[in-house]
Amino acid sequence: MTILEISETQKAAALEHVAAAERAVWNIPDVPASTPVRPINSAAIIGAGTMGGGISMSFANAGIPVIVIDVDAASLDRGLSRIRGNYAATVSKGRLSQAQMDERVALLRSTTDIAAVADADIVIEAVFERIDIKLDIFRKLDRLAKPGAILATNTSMLDVDRIAAETKRPQDVLGTHFFSPANVMKLLEVVRGEKTAKDVLATVMSVARKIGKIPVAVGVCDGFVGNRMVEQYFREAEFLVAEGASPAQVDKALTDYGLAMGPFAMSDMAGVDVRWEVAKRNGDPGAGGKRYSDLVGALGRMGRFGQKTGAGFYRYEPGSRAPIPDPALDAVFQAESERQGVKRHEVGPEEIVKRCLYALINEGADILEERIAARAGDIDVIYVNGYGFPAYRGGPMFAADLIGLDAVHREIEQFRNTFGDHWRPSPLLARLAREGKRFNDPT
Ligand code: NAD
Repeated sequence: MTILEISETQKAAALEHVAAAERAVWNIPDVPASTPVRPINSAAIIGAGTMGGGISMSFANAGIPVIVIDVDAASLDRGLSRIRGNYAATVSKGRLSQAQMDERVALLRSTTDIAAVADADIVIEAVFERIDIKLDIFRKLDRLAKPGAILATNTSMLDVDRIAAETKRPQDVLGTHFFSPANVMKLLEVVRGEKTAKDVLATVMSVARKIGKIPVAVGVCDGFVGNRMVEQYFREAEFLVAEGASPAQVDKALTDYGLAMGPFAMSDMAGVDVRWEVAKRNGDPGAGGKRYSDLVGALGRMGRFGQKTGAGFYRYEPGSRAPIPDPALDAVFQAESERQGVKRHEVGPEEIVKRCLYALINEGADILEERIAARAGDIDVIYVNGYGFPAYRGGPMFAADLIGLDAVHREIEQFRNTFGDHWRPSPLLARLAREGKRFNDPT
């Protein structure tokens, strides 16, 4: 059986697993269900951009009044008119009445004065991904927010503990990592800092339920669960391109496997510049003589930031989001092959899927071992709800269980010999394979 095939029985088991895992997310091992929650009757959202707007809508949709805060009137106007536009589009599709839209919009107030956070039971910061700005905001929140208010950051990658340490109330601070578009996507990574109080975690889990999200509690690390794993997956996808596959071939193999979108279409949507920033922040990628991909850097230097600039790993016609393969990149890929010292050749879909999927699985295993995620099922819930992983395959960890951890481990050992030392099999994977166990075995 190839990796692409899956039986009807397996599909049914996978769907059952996802449903059970989605029910299990509410059960946080050391936070009893009886933990009292703090009342949340109002929210302040700092930053009226892409994420702040969507997060504000999620609260207003649940009937919770929101104050939206941004640096100037122009940013607020832009943000609020985008929110109104989103609601109006839903009204015109008949999925919301005009009266409902008016009710929700009426719950949104806006100001440029950050002192307005004083009334909020929960404050969610969604400003630019810059540590200096976020630290400055949390210093102000410490001064201005009422005692007991929950202070959350929507950072994608920055250190939640460092942000919490900027306040005298780190027990009230945590990460709420929403996914874009935040008013639509159900997944919420709830990032528990070293000092986050249990009742703060319990409160945010309960607020998440109120605003229609599926929250998964995760620990602090670079990229949390979803983005930390996806970085490994992107890297392997880029290695495949250096070895001779085209972005379109890689994306097609993965969408045929069942993913909603392949890694290159996803990079173009999320922004190549965002990934480039992360790469720059991570410092010298070749330190220690390790193989690395510089495709994001190459595209970044060309100003190919993805859909937003009309070109990234694909090109785009004006006004369209349909990715079109771009032969102008052939020379870039060729140069990258030479830089990496790899020979270009045909790469088949089976290899593409295995390498990208196993990159997720191996990192997921490390995440479990480090207790950044409490259960393999939590990782699967994150991938199914936040990254377009097909529910009928159960998420990457369940997919590994179906293949058999022994087989996955053996193949990763082979990848290490063939493709480089970045393929270090996770010690947890090695152990479970040896013991004949599965990631999703009850513990
Ligand atoms: P954005 O650029 O769309 O919006 C940021 C907003 O913050 C702007 O309106 C800006 O004027 C405002 N702002 C900047 N400094 C401010 C300050 N000092 N006080 C008040 N407002 C200020 O950014 P975004 O895409 O919405 O991202 C916001 C955060 O969410 C970032 O930390 C980002 O990493 C994270 N995030 C983004 C995504 C995504 O897909 N865009 C997904 C998950 C998390």
